[in-house]
Amino acid sequence: MKMRYIDIRSDTVTLPTQKMREAMYKAEVGDDVYEDDPTVRKLEKLAAEKVGKEAALFVPSGTFGNELALFTHTKRGDEVIVDRNSHIVLHEVGASAVIAGVQLREYISQNGIPDVDEINSLIRDEDIHYPPTTLICLENAHGIGTVVNLEIMKKIEELAHSKGVKIHLDGARIFNAACALGVDAKEIASHVDSVMFCLSKGLAAPVGSILAGTKEFISKARKGRKLMGGGMRQVGFLAAAGIVALEEMVDRLCEDHENADFLAKSLDEIDEIEVQKDRRDINMVFFRFLVKFDDKKFASHMLENGVKINPPEGGEYRFVTNKDVSRQDLEKVVEIVRKFLKKF
Ligand SMILES: *Cc1c(COP(=O)(O)O)cnc(C)c1O
Repeated sequence: MKMRYIDIRSDTVTLPTQKMREAMYKAEVGDDVYEDDPTVRKLEKLAAEKVGKEAALFVPSGTFGNELALFTHTKRGDEVIVDRNSHIVLHEVGASAVIAGVQLREYISQNGIPDVDEINSLIRDEDIHYPPTTLICLENAHGIGTVVNLEIMKKIEELAHSKGVKIHLDGARIFNAACALGVDAKEIASHVDSVMFCLSKGLAAPVGSILAGTKEFISKARKGRKLMGGGMRQVGFLAAAGIVALEEMVDRLCEDHENADFLAKSLDEIDEIEVQKDRRDINMVFFRFLVKFDDKKFASHMLENGVKINPPEGGEYRFVTNKDVSRQDLEKVVEIVRKFLKKF
């Protein structure tokens, strides 16, 4: 039998559920470029409702959705205000320069929390030397493991709209943010003009993300998606899994958070480990070892014992809980970490 690994590299590694596989097999499909695919239409309607927007568009990935949002909201040469530690800056291959052709102006958030005054100071006035500021990007939940509360989002909304600037939310994990904040995802999205969220992370669909906003914005984005090569044909097979993701997988995300709490607490009990306790809002646990060793040796020890992890970034490890990892699995992970430290 194939070895079963405990995979805590990310929540993107989640496998589709049996129900998703059945829905995909049975999906009624058509040519989506003609807007003929009933399953895609159903997904887009449901997705728009989930975040309280007029319309939504199915896109191949979260990166695609973010970059399409920038491309749709802006003109070439505009300036976009964005967190220095955001996915758009760090992990999208510099696509904003290639696709939208915009200049990024970075703000520095504290643990993922933006400062309204700093954002205000970055919005450009009219001047012959300045590019126009047309968009502000937020990230919630933030990739470093925190959530931004609604009061801050509301202040940024008021600021942006008073200056005629739009807001895009990278809500790859918006439903994790909703669970952590104890609010509906709609309330988070109510403070922004457009939102992207992923079906393929904790929600466990095999592929796909959603971009949502006004009808006008989405109809413009639909054409931009075609330009970017994302007009797909009988893509209802993938949308079918997305529908199951939205109907059945949203509420259980809180379980991943509880499991992450357990993992964080258990790791923090180990003398040689320091957990980043101020970044513990969602399904991610960030920590450092207080002792030095070869990181490759640690990774191979984990793998030999059936646990897949990512290498550290800047000396920091990230373990991510997800639907394919149980509480018992996490107990095992902690034991395996302890075993490594004893040996070492
Ligand atoms: C995962 C992620 C994305 C986009 O993900 P894809 O891998 O392109 O689907 C965007 N923003 C954040 C914060 C993410 O975590």
